[in-house]
Amino acid sequence: MQQTTRKLSVSKQIALVAHDNCKPDLLRWVIEHKNKLQCHTLYATGTTGHLLSDETGLEITSLISGPMGGDQQLGALISEGKIDILIFFWDPLNAVPHDPDVKALLRIASVWNIPVATNRASANFLIESTLLDQEVDIEIPDYDAYLNART
Ligand code: PGA
Repeated sequence: MQQTTRKLSVSKQIALVAHDNCKPDLLRWVIEHKNKLQCHTLYATGTTGHLLSDETGLEITSLISGPMGGDQQLGALISEGKIDILIFFWDPLNAVPHDPDVKALLRIASVWNIPVATNRASANFLIESTLLDQEVDIEIPDYDAYLNART
């Protein structure tokens, strides 16, 4: 598919997700970076979002819980260009019942070329990036051109 660009604004739409065993680690990371995160609009899957907002006071839009459809909800938002960055501490050591949804979320994040961090080190690189507080163009599939080519 042809590519086009999408502009990420200075203030980003950041999604936060952690599997149960990784929630303490994500909470610790969010506390460490609260000052930066509060300049952006935050989304999370249900249980992660409620935990993070209760513990940090950050304003977070909590979707449905991941296993109940929240990962798919997030994937839909990514497809619509409404999520700019995904921080997803998925659990590499334990199976989860919604593994297909996890794969789908990671796949759709790749399709739409958004920055993804899947662990603390990559999340640190993203949060420390000078691009976080700048307008940034990312390449995305040109879906409109694809549709026009078919008519
Ligand atoms: P949760 O979902 O935040 O509702 O626990 C996370 C996940 O996708 O497993």
